[in-house]
Amino acid sequence: MERVRHLSELPKAHLHLHFTGSMRPATLLELADKYGVHLPEALTSGTPPKLRATDERGWFRFQRLYDIARSCLRAPEDIQRLVREAAEEDIKDGSGWLEIQVDPTSYAPRLGGLIPALEVILDAVETASRETGLGMRVLIAANRMKHPLDARTLARLAVRYADRGIVGFGLSNDERRGMARDFDRAFAIAREGGLLAAPHGGELTGPASVRDCLDDLHARRIGHGVRAAEDPRLLQRLAERGVTCEVCPASNVALGVYEKPEDVPLRTLYEAGVPMALGADDPLLFGSRLAAQYEIARHHHGFDDAELAELARQSVRGSAAPVGVQDKLLAGIDQWLSG
Ligand SMILES: [Zn+2]
Repeated sequence: MERVRHLSELPKAHLHLHFTGSMRPATLLELADKYGVHLPEALTSGTPPKLRATDERGWFRFQRLYDIARSCLRAPEDIQRLVREAAEEDIKDGSGWLEIQVDPTSYAPRLGGLIPALEVILDAVETASRETGLGMRVLIAANRMKHPLDARTLARLAVRYADRGIVGFGLSNDERRGMARDFDRAFAIAREGGLLAAPHGGELTGPASVRDCLDDLHARRIGHGVRAAEDPRLLQRLAERGVTCEVCPASNVALGVYEKPEDVPLRTLYEAGVPMALGADDPLLFGSRLAAQYEIARHHHGFDDAELAELARQSVRGSAAPVGVQDKLLAGIDQWLSG
């Protein structure tokens, strides 16, 4: 009988994880208690809330839950704990490289302003990385619900702090609001400063939003991008350019982008040659972490071990990890497969 290879032992890179969304549920309960924050039942029940983010009310509800959770992060030690635990959880799931995504603007009011907030975050990442041994970097994400000038400020800041562990620039929140091209200057600043462009697209809206990310923001990676599956020519373009889609299957189902795990078009992207990096997005709200995304590929999409290893390789190649780190992870993947 063939041995079952554990997916938590498959080396991989984690490229789509949001800051507050990475929190352990038990930590949220403790912090809420510490600060006297009343949590809605959706955050305390232990089962992920059913959200319909495909309509605006559902998305608003998701954002509201996220905001309440974020309001429990008030002191530098809370940030340090969050990041260290995110690293520990990632290591348990076989991650050898983590790129965590954050909009420091939303933490600024409680941490003394934008720059102090950013410094607390970068310090926390550097410390967690050193103490756990997990390679970690940061993507600064602008919020598309805010003014494009805010995004430019953030891009300049990200470039200025690039040598402190920032590797990329993103764009998050409701894709139905604003146009990608409104943020083209911010992305130009980020790219000229050597940062990787990795905006969200093709989650709540269709293939056009992915095309906008490519044409207007020169994205090298796409957050989600799954809706590209609806356009074969776009898939071909992503494949030819080697643009990695950070696909988050459990998130897609939790937010109602797809009804069931088997509806997430993993096979379509894979067969089209579009590189993917499976990610957990917001495990706090969606109830599953990194290895569980690979479990979905195995159990709901019939990916065999060789294909799962290939998915892991794609995540590593799509990362901003230095060549030496990538080579080590790729060798570990081969070892997992041959073991
Ligand atoms: Zn995301």
